[in-house]
Amino acid sequence: MRQTKKPKETSKPHPETEEEKLEVEKDIITEIPEEEELIKGEKKIDVISWKPKTSIGLKVKNGEITLNQILDTGQKIMEMEIVDALLPGMPNELLFIGQSKGKFGGGQKRIFRQTQKKTPEGNKPSFSCQAVVGNSDGYVGIGYGKSKDTVPAREKALRNAKLNIFKIKRGCGSWECSCKTPHSIPFMVTGKCGSTVIKIMPAPKGKGLCIEQECAKILRLAGIKDVWSKTFGQTRVKTNLVVACENALKQLSTTKIQTENQEKLGIHEGKITQ
Ligand SMILES: [Zn+2]
Repeated sequence: MRQTKKPKETSKPHPETEEEKLEVEKDIITEIPEEEELIKGEKKIDVISWKPKTSIGLKVKNGEITLNQILDTGQKIMEMEIVDALLPGMPNELLFIGQSKGKFGGGQKRIFRQTQKKTPEGNKPSFSCQAVVGNSDGYVGIGYGKSKDTVPAREKALRNAKLNIFKIKRGCGSWECSCKTPHSIPFMVTGKCGSTVIKIMPAPKGKGLCIEQECAKILRLAGIKDVWSKTFGQTRVKTNLVVACENALKQLSTTKIQTENQEKLGIHEGKITQ
């Protein structure tokens, strides 16, 4: 071990000095765009290197179509880069749907859910993962990915989350508050998946997200601040609970609302801050 370490230490300084020189040169070049266009720079790199394969992709690259137009007409997004180009720098989060092995009835929460299939050759493990993306301002997407290994499962989940992006409605439907600002949801919604049912209710300002932790992540990325909730059925398995929450949020935009109520509840659809 000692013998192997010594030549490495001696050999390190030489490339380091060369690398340092290169790094210094790079710093001088990269200093100027960092200050000017941090957010725009990301967008430009995506758009330049990306070669669209679908007609929507081409329109997005030429700047002819907005995200609202795509979602309102019900067109299907088939390329991840469409969402990247229209909503640059969107944060994502992975949901804890799995469990590591523990000694006394279960271990810590994990982002990968590990399952096994019994075959004549032996156990065949597979990993699944659920991801959320959202701009914390009216747009959110949830995706599921499954693979033989952990890394591809995560990438699939992130890709599916971006493709499944949808628009939500926000408002204030709480009778204790009625402030007409979009901090909560305008009315009560329920979502279902399997036996799991989740009921999301509007709450007054400052209440916070009174909901299960993984669902709170989704609502936070959707831009909802105050909510009450109630669940029914089997909620120990998180995958169905997350999908039920997604269905409940989708119900916000599918429900028809009269124009007089729209003003009364202060309903805003999609993006608010410009
Ligand atoms: Zn309110």
